[in-house]
Amino acid sequence: MKSMEKIVSLCKRRGFLFQSSEIYGGVQGFWDYGPLGVELKRNLKEAWWNDMLTSHNELVTSADTPSTYEMVGLDSTIIMHPQVWKCSGHFDLFHDHMIDCPEAKRRYRFDQVRGRWVEYQDKKIFVATMAEAAEEADDVRRRGMKFFKLRNKDADKMTLGSESITLDQLDSTTDVLGPDAKSLDTLTEPREFNLMFKTTLGALGGEDDVTFLRPETAQGIFVNFKNVLDSSRVRVPFGIGQVGKSFRNEITPRNFTFRSREFEQMEIEFFCHPDQSQDWYRFWRDRRLAWYTSLGLSSESLIMREHHTEELAHYSIGTADIEYAFPFLPEGEYGELEGIAHRGDFDLRSHMEGKLDPQTPKGQRMEVELGADGKPKHRGSGKDLSYRDELTGERYIPHVIEPSAGADRGALAFICEAYSEDEAPDEKGKMQTRTVMKLNPRLAPIKAAVFPLVKKDGMPEVAKDIYGELKKHMNVFYDEKGAVGRRYRRQDEAGTPYCITVDTESLSEKTVTVRDRDSLQQSRVRIDDLVAEITQRIESH
Ligand code: ATP
Repeated sequence: MKSMEKIVSLCKRRGFLFQSSEIYGGVQGFWDYGPLGVELKRNLKEAWWNDMLTSHNELVTSADTPSTYEMVGLDSTIIMHPQVWKCSGHFDLFHDHMIDCPEAKRRYRFDQVRGRWVEYQDKKIFVATMAEAAEEADDVRRRGMKFFKLRNKDADKMTLGSESITLDQLDSTTDVLGPDAKSLDTLTEPREFNLMFKTTLGALGGEDDVTFLRPETAQGIFVNFKNVLDSSRVRVPFGIGQVGKSFRNEITPRNFTFRSREFEQMEIEFFCHPDQSQDWYRFWRDRRLAWYTSLGLSSESLIMREHHTEELAHYSIGTADIEYAFPFLPEGEYGELEGIAHRGDFDLRSHMEGKLDPQTPKGQRMEVELGADGKPKHRGSGKDLSYRDELTGERYIPHVIEPSAGADRGALAFICEAYSEDEAPDEKGKMQTRTVMKLNPRLAPIKAAVFPLVKKDGMPEVAKDIYGELKKHMNVFYDEKGAVGRRYRRQDEAGTPYCITVDTESLSEKTVTVRDRDSLQQSRVRIDDLVAEITQRIESH
């Protein structure tokens, strides 16, 4: 049975993920990728870059593409001019609501605190908890009993609500026991908390030198819109893609790497004519969903969720999230992997004119928000970021479609999907449970492992030659220690799709066995054909 506990344990044991600064007790919300994890994440980012940018052929229009389009890349800085964040809206609006518990000296994200009603005799209280979904009811029961000073034998005298409720659904008169509190009603009212990490530029460090670590890579693309246009001869419609680190001071980082404070994003800003923007929005939604399934996420575990009007960000005309049924979520719940937003002309216009008024109804032209002095509250760059179509002579501010994906959430989803347990014969032919990471070969950290069947009779020499040859083309692993069955098992856990074994026949016939991780089928392949055969098998996925 797949469980988050087993997945987390495998990730640590086999070197996919480690807690950051673990020898000092770790730091919440930060994760390091070990030798296998770093390869997996690199492969995921490369697959994205390749499939979305470099292998995209702008000269071809397919049946479901509104028109031909071009894609280019960018690598902008993490620290940018402080004004960027004022005009983007992050300075004023990028916050979550937090609540504090002075008694327990703890802080929580308001929308993440859940709980249940608990009733004993004629007293009804609400017990809040931060426990994972699977442990929520047990945690509430345990703390309710402690609060009412009940012994185990009296457990059935206390009733526990069957429904899990978030704090924001309660009215202000409710008696709430905070997630780590011993007495009632210790939680403060929700307050805004800006999620950007502050930092200071230079040695003098005055108020004007305060800036932020970027909370998204997107703004680096918007402020370079004109540079890319002027330097690369792209024409609208076109997209700029970027992969890089982003930082958010999340109030309650949790669920392994799902909500981290430092993470990587893979973002595209796609610029198009306003009249075509709805078609492009639909195009990117479908294209991005299909990308996840093409790399192995099962369509039963994925949903495309269109946001309701009241849920839309202030700038957005439409947003859809691609969500995945992560195993740490309750049955039927999904977590966001990627958001695809129709941002209208909000971003380019803000960086031209200044921060726009978020109160203006969506879809309408937004006005510059004025400060007390009657001037724009946050002044834009004053640069003209409009586009002139050379063929028609029309000048306009392009609309933007933004598919914004998280590389860490993506990697986690592929890890969760890949984890499986099945029955396979061990070296003595006895059926045993095996743990296997069924990663798509394009994503697998190690593509092939090479084993000499035994450590003698010239087999290691032949195996090392094969290893050296394959190494020129892909990440390969060599192992000659222990029983071959055990070596297979280690590679199954690492997600290695092919194991190549050199045996006696290899010496006389110049062939090896290639074992397929998923089907367990073994086939004989000529040593001279190995590179082509393994490459072809990987590319066919
Ligand atoms: P959430 O609602 O989960 O906080 P969001 O809607 O704020 O996410 P976006 O601003 O749309 O996220 O960011 C785009 C993508 O970046 C997300 O779909 C996700 O994959 C990734 N991402 C955002 N925040 C985090 C985080 N704290 N840790 C890891 N990945 C993140």
